[in-house]
Amino acid sequence: MTARSLHWFRDDLRLADNPALAAAVAHGAVLCLYVFDEGSSRRQLGGASRWWLARSLKSLAASIQARGGELVIMRGDPADILPRVAEAADIALVTWSRRYDAGSIALDSAIKTKLVAAATKVESFNASLLNEPWQVTTKTGDPMKVFTPYWRAARERGDPPAPLPAPVRIEALKLPAAVQAMTMSLGDLALEPSEPDWAGGLRDAWTPGEDGAAARLHDFLTGQLDGYGEGRNRPDYVSTSRLSPSLRFGEIGPRQIWHATRSAIESGKAQAGAGDAEKFLSEIGWREFSYHLLFYNPDLATKNYNRRFDVFPWRQDDVALSAWQRGRTGYPIVDAGLRELWTMGWMHNRVRMIVASFLIKHLLIDWRQGEAWFWDTLVDADPANNTASWQWVAGSGADAAPYYRIFNPVTQGLKFDPKGGYVRRWIPEIAGLDDSVIHEPWKADASSLRRAGVVLGDTYPRPIVDLDVGRKRALEALASTRGD
Ligand SMILES: Cc1cc2nc3c(=O)[nH]c(=O)nc-3n(C[C@H](O)[C@H](O)[C@H](O)COP(=O)(O)OP(=O)(O)OC[C@H]3O[C@@H](n4cnc5c(N)ncnc54)[C@H](O)[C@@H]3O)c2cc1C
Repeated sequence: MTARSLHWFRDDLRLADNPALAAAVAHGAVLCLYVFDEGSSRRQLGGASRWWLARSLKSLAASIQARGGELVIMRGDPADILPRVAEAADIALVTWSRRYDAGSIALDSAIKTKLVAAATKVESFNASLLNEPWQVTTKTGDPMKVFTPYWRAARERGDPPAPLPAPVRIEALKLPAAVQAMTMSLGDLALEPSEPDWAGGLRDAWTPGEDGAAARLHDFLTGQLDGYGEGRNRPDYVSTSRLSPSLRFGEIGPRQIWHATRSAIESGKAQAGAGDAEKFLSEIGWREFSYHLLFYNPDLATKNYNRRFDVFPWRQDDVALSAWQRGRTGYPIVDAGLRELWTMGWMHNRVRMIVASFLIKHLLIDWRQGEAWFWDTLVDADPANNTASWQWVAGSGADAAPYYRIFNPVTQGLKFDPKGGYVRRWIPEIAGLDDSVIHEPWKADASSLRRAGVVLGDTYPRPIVDLDVGRKRALEALASTRGD
């Protein structure tokens, strides 16, 4: 009988540079399995991520099929499903790519214990990081707390291994009836919204899947990488790679990005200078740092990294929260960002910082409420990056921006969206205003407002908080936690 293996796909929805899949393929016929996790205690995916997942699985299934295999889909608690399938299909080897959040680690360990007890071999691999969290530490072996030394230590470990090619052929494992009975179609998972179908903007903006990720990387390396160091702060044009959802779902891995970036620069295919490439790779470094923080601080999504913030006097203000979520705060750059998020499931990094700062500081709303909204609406909602970034803006995180650094949304808009192109794209109702007032419509005189068809408080809101008042309140709140 052929050797029988099972590769459990999770956040590694690709064929290339997937060492766990390669190990399963090398072993024999493979049951390629995806389990939609609905029953374990892991954090459930948000709506936009579910949409991405559905499309990414569709692409993965087609790539597996083109190589002779089949993607088998199930739904439920993986802790029940994996041991049952392994036994019923007489699987000798189970492989997977490692995950680093506490819920997943606990789940994977429990499953491994059950499988090993039933004499099934389990092998896990790293597919999603340049360095696993425990590989980069201080000289005394402690976790790192500051990005610059973290990244220096990571770089000193040398280049990551070259990525593996995709398997040429995947031999499908014939499913016994008991396993067949547990399968379902991708459509049965009902991951995409129907009533209402809010995903039109997502469909227009994205091509999920391994091929879409490779195409985006290629476009970026031959386009926006040139000038990325400066350009990455500009939301008014496509200035970054937009690879975040693909990294989140493992349609592409950082080793592939690393080597492709290096070789594009060295071969002269990319016009960018080494400085732009270094800046880009250091952003991948921030992702690595976030995973390092999450691994050593398993409660990062729910608890302040800096416990001094536990007594911070947050306000519960559902009206303000809802205005922020719907992009109706009266501050154009903030509203544009939140509408971009709602439409595309993505937001430019500079604007993420501005909208998060506005919520946490000017509105004094707990960063966890913003994190939860992003979790539900981002296609790249990531257990490490989202939580670490929200805590970074709040000032409660590791190596965080100090709480007293409060972004002024008008100044930020003028600096990073100087002609107002970004704001006009997402807030058409104020598009007719002059550049001079596009970031502060309340300063427009009556005739400019009339000409642009803007009625403040009606077609577009007046500011929901005065910037000076909000800023002063935030600084007083901070002082109260210090006992100043
Ligand atoms: C409040 C807030 C919440 C965020 N939530 C998420 C999230 O849920 N998921 C997510 O992937 N990123 C998150 N980020 C980080 C960052 O905004 C996005 O990674 C970036 O905008 C994605 O666009 P890109 O792929 O074009 O980035 P590029 O500039 O092309 O960067 C390449 C990759 O590097 C990584 N990266 C870039 N910037 C950061 C950063 N500051 N921190 C960590 N990794 C980074 C991402 O994986 C990104 O795809 C958040 C930032 C803030 C301020």
